[in-house]
Amino acid sequence: MGAKLCLAAKWAIPIVGEPIYDAVVVIDGTQIEGVYARAQFNTLYKAADIQRAEDYKEAVIVPGLINLHTHLDYSALRAFSTDLPFFQWIEELVGRSREWATDRFYQSALYGARLAAFTGASTIVDSSYSGQSAKALAEVGLRAVVGLELFGLADSEAEKNWNSWLERFENLHETEDPALRHSLDNDLITLTVAPHAPYTVCPTLWLKATTWAKKFNLPLMAHVAESTEESDWLAKESSVVRKFLAFALRENEDAEKLKPRWAGRGQSPIRHLKNYGLLDERLIAAHVVNADDEELRILAENNVKVAHCPRSNARLKNGLAPFLKMMEEDLDVGFGTDSLASTDDLSLLEEGQFALNAHRLNNKNCPLTARHMIECMTINAARALRMDHKIGSLQAGKQADLAIFALPPSPLTDTEKQALDPYNLLISGGARLKDLLVDGRFVVSEGKLMRR
Ligand SMILES: [Zn+2]
Repeated sequence: MGAKLCLAAKWAIPIVGEPIYDAVVVIDGTQIEGVYARAQFNTLYKAADIQRAEDYKEAVIVPGLINLHTHLDYSALRAFSTDLPFFQWIEELVGRSREWATDRFYQSALYGARLAAFTGASTIVDSSYSGQSAKALAEVGLRAVVGLELFGLADSEAEKNWNSWLERFENLHETEDPALRHSLDNDLITLTVAPHAPYTVCPTLWLKATTWAKKFNLPLMAHVAESTEESDWLAKESSVVRKFLAFALRENEDAEKLKPRWAGRGQSPIRHLKNYGLLDERLIAAHVVNADDEELRILAENNVKVAHCPRSNARLKNGLAPFLKMMEEDLDVGFGTDSLASTDDLSLLEEGQFALNAHRLNNKNCPLTARHMIECMTINAARALRMDHKIGSLQAGKQADLAIFALPPSPLTDTEKQALDPYNLLISGGARLKDLLVDGRFVVSEGKLMRR
């Protein structure tokens, strides 16, 4: 046996299978070799096999968490407006950021990527207006799927808008930025397309994105059914969205852009996307707050994935998504924090804790548990990305993406501790990230970001 890295802790939560008390995770290079109870580990390995060993003691080892929806580009806008309704908020967001130079986007995204690493997220799914978040995520060393955002409401300009998007994408893809080049070449970062939302992308343009993503077998990300205003606009056209579009596009005249022919046709966002053939297994739909049972079934039939973002939806007063029904429909649902412009922090543990409490508050018979929440931020999110063969659980052969959380001090005896539910321990507050590994490499060590 060659030299290995061993990480020990009171608990390991492999996700697939039951939690292990007094656990050791063995890593060989970029991959997990095995997850063991200490006694079993002692029979299998000799001291000479171990190159480096860390014993975290009062801690939980979990797979690196997966944040299924962020916009790191806007991290500098943290807490910029916490009271506005959705379309006023988005107008403010556009107004504040649209004159930013490229480097401002990069610095903002770098700040966000660093914060994200400290939350124990090893994989970030980011929709990026500028594309700079890809560079920032590479600089920090995280795994990521970055969708370069796509906009364009006029059918007659779909070809032009697609070509200009493609040119921006190719420039980013052929980057000579050393960190991003390394991450792209080593399969740590995947670049793809993110059609922004049904109220900013016409079906003709969106279909080009869907077809392209299928050709290259890539996921694509979009905002779907996030607000009642979006639903109202698609169903009966409305002045709230029209006013926003006029502001965002700096356009007061062009009816094709402000009141396209397919808006106001009595359709919900999900039915609208279905009618134009835009739902498939590659689509990761963020939010999905306004969806009835039949629409959730449509998403399930088309194997669409969902990023549930309850804290952002709460902040922007968009409501609580039908998460329980999504689970009943067997949809692959993960958590997204959304950007720091609409949430307090990028922590998935906080997101999960909030979700659990929000759905319990909303439903006296809520069957959700801490375990469901942790599964959503690991294996379910990996499935949503169709990367569950690589990440999302602690299993032999998977990539060594791990987060180690120190638990708050406890007066309990070891026997009492052993009886606790480690999922609850992790999500109930006070867990603090110690170390984060991506592909077996320490991104955070002893609470400090490691330089590449
Ligand atoms: Zn978003």
